[in-house]
Amino acid sequence: MSNSVLTNNLGFPRIGAKRELKKATEAYWSNKIDSNELLETASALRKLNWNTQKKAGIELIPSNDFSFYDQVLDMTCTLGAIPSRFNRNQNTTDLDLMFTIARGLSKIGTSNDKATYASEMTKWFDTNYHYIVPELTSNMDFKLASTKIFDEFQEALSEGIKTKPVLVGPVTYLKMGKVFGDDASSFDRYTLLDKMLPVYIQILQKLEEMGAEWVQIDEPIFSLDLTKEELEALTKTYKVLAGSVNKLKLMVANYFGEIRENLAVFLSLPVSALHVDSVRGRKEIDTVIESFPENKILSIGIVNGRNIWKNNYNDSLSVLEKAKSTLGVESLMIAPSCSMIHSPVTIANESKLDAELLNWMSFATEKLDEIVTLAKAISGENVQEKLDSNKAANDSRNSSTRIHNKAVKERSAKISKEDLERSSEFEKRRQIQQSSLNLPAFPTTTIGSFPQTPEIRKMRALLRKNEITQKEYDEFIKTQIQDTIKKQEDLDIDVLVHGEFERNDMVEYFGEQLDGFVFSRFGWVQSFGSRYVKPPIIFGDVSRPAPMTVEWTQYSQSLTDKPVKGMLTGPVTILQWSFVRDDQPRSETTKQIALALRDEVVDLEKAGIKVIQIDEPAIREGLPLRQSDWPEYLEWAVDNFKLSASGVQDETQIHTHMCYSEFNDMIESIAALDADVISIESSRSKMDLLDAFVDFKYPNEIGPGVYDIHSPRIPNIDEMEELLVKAQNYIPKEHIWVNPDCGLKTRRWEEVMPALANMVEAAKRLRK
Ligand code: GLN
Ligand code: ZN
Repeated sequence: MSNSVLTNNLGFPRIGAKRELKKATEAYWSNKIDSNELLETASALRKLNWNTQKKAGIELIPSNDFSFYDQVLDMTCTLGAIPSRFNRNQNTTDLDLMFTIARGLSKIGTSNDKATYASEMTKWFDTNYHYIVPELTSNMDFKLASTKIFDEFQEALSEGIKTKPVLVGPVTYLKMGKVFGDDASSFDRYTLLDKMLPVYIQILQKLEEMGAEWVQIDEPIFSLDLTKEELEALTKTYKVLAGSVNKLKLMVANYFGEIRENLAVFLSLPVSALHVDSVRGRKEIDTVIESFPENKILSIGIVNGRNIWKNNYNDSLSVLEKAKSTLGVESLMIAPSCSMIHSPVTIANESKLDAELLNWMSFATEKLDEIVTLAKAISGENVQEKLDSNKAANDSRNSSTRIHNKAVKERSAKISKEDLERSSEFEKRRQIQQSSLNLPAFPTTTIGSFPQTPEIRKMRALLRKNEITQKEYDEFIKTQIQDTIKKQEDLDIDVLVHGEFERNDMVEYFGEQLDGFVFSRFGWVQSFGSRYVKPPIIFGDVSRPAPMTVEWTQYSQSLTDKPVKGMLTGPVTILQWSFVRDDQPRSETTKQIALALRDEVVDLEKAGIKVIQIDEPAIREGLPLRQSDWPEYLEWAVDNFKLSASGVQDETQIHTHMCYSEFNDMIESIAALDADVISIESSRSKMDLLDAFVDFKYPNEIGPGVYDIHSPRIPNIDEMEELLVKAQNYIPKEHIWVNPDCGLKTRRWEEVMPALANMVEAAKRLRK
């Protein structure tokens, strides 16, 4: 055994190959099953996952990677860091309290002041996973308040598996939290460590007592820009934790990025093992190996935990050989780059994907085998057959004509700076557009989608099951569009939309019509709670075999004299919400998508569409973890948006839309998109977002959202008027558009109609 490298997994998807956890959780929420049944489903899933990993040959199998909702929230519960508005004496079980923190009992801002509204949720680093944000206050206390981590360790033990429990690290926990209270601005959150670490010590000591050999503590913040104080907090934390255990071995795991200038502190942590992400950290892995201290184990995260492509054994083994010759096999572990909760469960059920494509992919279950195979290879075992078939798969992917489209590559190579620019400057375009569109001051519009009613969802399901014909479905969509155009005319909205009823998802709809995309059947990953997403897979060069939206848009325009906006999803957003090929830079893939969209934009123009919106809600979330990497990203993101938008005449008005209001740090890039009009989410922040415009004079037209579509509340005329008056302090009034925050698909018509009527009325008052 001593000659073989250990295999280490950081986390396994908990959702089940057929979304068993979602089904059980939602059934519990709607009182269709009781908590026992939910707990049993969860237990069965955990046991299955542990046994799958054991059978695959993984030695360090994680536990406590299971969660009903979110592992950060579980940590909050374990630390007893329950926000005080949740009454802990209520007669609820821990499970219900946990769900209440995640989901709330009532909406923010409703009149009931005892309302226990949910904690905020936000993105986990640069993944599409969302965690529940810990609420930190200077006077908060911590106490061990959940037995989850012990129960699951024990549960695995009784299956004959001694697992490695996983904890969210204390410093990552604090950094990912949000400080509340009167002293929020002056309070140093890391002072909470003194109260928090005793609970961590209690957990570690109990696990040691129970017979645990390893504990994994996740500190992915090593991938971020850290202050001196944060690095000191990390050093202090691990000195304290390491000093509190005897035989228990601690592993600190970093993932999602390079460690860079944090490396010295990372390597000096007094723990038994350190995990690094050598997929995202491919460039620095040699440095890590060369500077790695003696007497510690290096866990090399060489199998990508957040994408779906087969590992390249050749390349991986070159890294591992170097590690082996420098450090020795006994100082190495082979692991996925990060927890595999960001991967779908298995390709085993993908009977509809063709064999050639499937042969290039591996989901979480298949990745286990990759880890074990690499460990065997580096330990000198004969796995030649596996190495050969891996090489064959990768070779076939490299050279496949299904991936490499000569025409696309040639066109992409020829793109020049001029292709990114509109023919004229904004001011000139603006005048031309004004005389052609003839819009009033404070023009009103919406962001694209209108309510996706149960009836629409039903019809889509019937079509999928072939219980209605495509023709019947299309006729139905037509009636929805007619109805929606009519409603907008009655409301007296100025620029209309068709409602997006034919789309079930803003990325999938385009991916399905583009070459180079493929869709799995069960490739779900958790986005938050019981909400899972099934990202499209971009496997090859992207091209557009035929127009995608022209027919529906043209049809809609034929129903009215008012301009109807063509609605497209932008290149960066399509990239950001997909599994992306890893054999060329992301910027290149985005460029190909941009070219396909550019053709669509031009075709819409040819079909008589005068206003075209290219949505980029995900442009901000694509920002790299390190600020020094931002300029490069922003440059290609902006260029590719412009590439998609600039094929049209001056007369055609290009809109874009973005959600989430933290724009202050990228406002110049937003301006650089040079869209004629941008609409942005801002009503929840009461136009705070407009702060960004105090120092920066935004040159083009802008619609700051005045109607918060995340709430069923119907905003009244006065409040929307007030927001618009406020906006005029920052934006010249002739540049202001009036629109909701975002699309209306999640709302009901009963809310949307009066809200939009009020919105139009607010615009009319301003015109007077
Ligand atoms: N046009 C899309 C809609 O209205 C935009 C959605 C979004 O910004 N996420 O639904
Ligand atoms: Zn939006």
